[in-house]
Amino acid sequence: MTVYIIGHKFHFETENLCRMFYPNSDIHLEYEMQDIQGDLIITKMNIADGNTVLSVDASIDGKTEKAERTIDIYTDDEVEYNLALCLYDCLTKITDYTPAWGLLTGVRPSKLMNRLIEEKGEENAKTYFKNKLLVSEGKTQLAFDVAMAQKQIFNDNRADSFSLYVSIPFCPSRCSYCSFVSHSITSSNAKKLLEPYIENLAKEIVITADYAKNNNLRLESVYFGGGTPGILSAEQSEFLINTVKNNFDMSFCREFTFESGRADTITDEKLLTLKNCGVDRISINPQTFDNGVLELIGRKHTAEEAVEAYRLAQNIGFDSINMDLIAGLPGDTVEGFMNSVDKAISLGAENITVHALALKRSSNLVTKENAALSQDMAAAQMIDYANKTLSESGYIPYYMYRQSRCVGNLENVGWCLPGKECLYNVYMMEEIHTVLAVGAGAVTKLKAPHDNLIERIFNYKYPYEYNTGFDTLVERKNRISEFYSTYN
Ligand code: SF4
Repeated sequence: MTVYIIGHKFHFETENLCRMFYPNSDIHLEYEMQDIQGDLIITKMNIADGNTVLSVDASIDGKTEKAERTIDIYTDDEVEYNLALCLYDCLTKITDYTPAWGLLTGVRPSKLMNRLIEEKGEENAKTYFKNKLLVSEGKTQLAFDVAMAQKQIFNDNRADSFSLYVSIPFCPSRCSYCSFVSHSITSSNAKKLLEPYIENLAKEIVITADYAKNNNLRLESVYFGGGTPGILSAEQSEFLINTVKNNFDMSFCREFTFESGRADTITDEKLLTLKNCGVDRISINPQTFDNGVLELIGRKHTAEEAVEAYRLAQNIGFDSINMDLIAGLPGDTVEGFMNSVDKAISLGAENITVHALALKRSSNLVTKENAALSQDMAAAQMIDYANKTLSESGYIPYYMYRQSRCVGNLENVGWCLPGKECLYNVYMMEEIHTVLAVGAGAVTKLKAPHDNLIERIFNYKYPYEYNTGFDTLVERKNRISEFYSTYN
């Protein structure tokens, strides 16, 4: 599909909106009219007689639609908004599909809801979502409920707060839907990388702790994520956790999460080690409790093993366990997904995070198994069931985000029993404080203490680059102190 961007600069927003209607199409942007055949969308801005005219002409799958709006005041916001309305108007008519999130293409609906509540008050924020952004009643309420659940966490946050993220980008094998840069530990190359990786990671933890100390930052939460941190042996986990604890000031740390991840990595020895090291929140991620689906997506564990791992963790004394589920997996059915939700609830998991399948270009599923994809409607039913059943079972939605290329344009929502919110998820998703991140693929996000400015420091993506380019990477961390001395 060719999308023309003529006379305006909103190519990013235009492409995102087109993607909402055509998540799996190749969208090609052009900035000058050409003689191109096929599906076309022409988005245009003209200024005439002091008026700004915004128009969209779409011709897709043999159907054509036009929309035009004239505004008398030129501001970027007005142009962007009115152009989006034209595009939305054409595409809803051509596809006969009305996205539940309306015009909203952003990753963080609850962040926007929080901002609007602050600026306009609760009721006006909801009205803005519904009337201006055309978000459905249900999704508006969801974003609002998330914002309400986060209130106390926002209130407790301080200008000097920060969290630490430790990246373990290795997995026991690669799941077919995964787009993450994780290395399957079954390959001998990845195995060779792991030991030096752990050594470097420990060095980076020590260096980062110095920056935190020198800038008088206060550690609120620690999160070991991946990949699958559960691939670490008990000794390796203990070594890294103790490196964190021995170098950071832990006196204000309110949460220590270790994403054990897949059941095929979990043993009682490892769980006991985590518990003894002071980890108070873990994640065991079944994704589905259907063995056929698990096999199809290349996860090398069964539903029974996930339940067993959960019971093991419960018996060891973990009382804050997250389970991730995914709606829209290939081979799954609405009924199968409903069973998975029911199962996670019946186990009593304190956190249940419901993801909608997102297929990035780098996942094997997109490149090899595209046929498995016509699941949008089913995924919407799955998510509706999850939302209804979880809230009826006493769970509250406390964080959310959206991804591009998500089945049915759906959202990912973290649900929890009251009081069991994962603080790190809220800090990170709502960007309310700095996250210092260590390891391959990790991105440090510096948040200015007194305004909403965010700056990122990227680590190398892959473990081999991380190991070989470690010195350069460490130099980049100088920016932490520069940033705080500028914005403090
Ligand atoms: S466990 Fe997670 S990170 Fe690892 S391959 Fe599977 S989806 Fe990707």
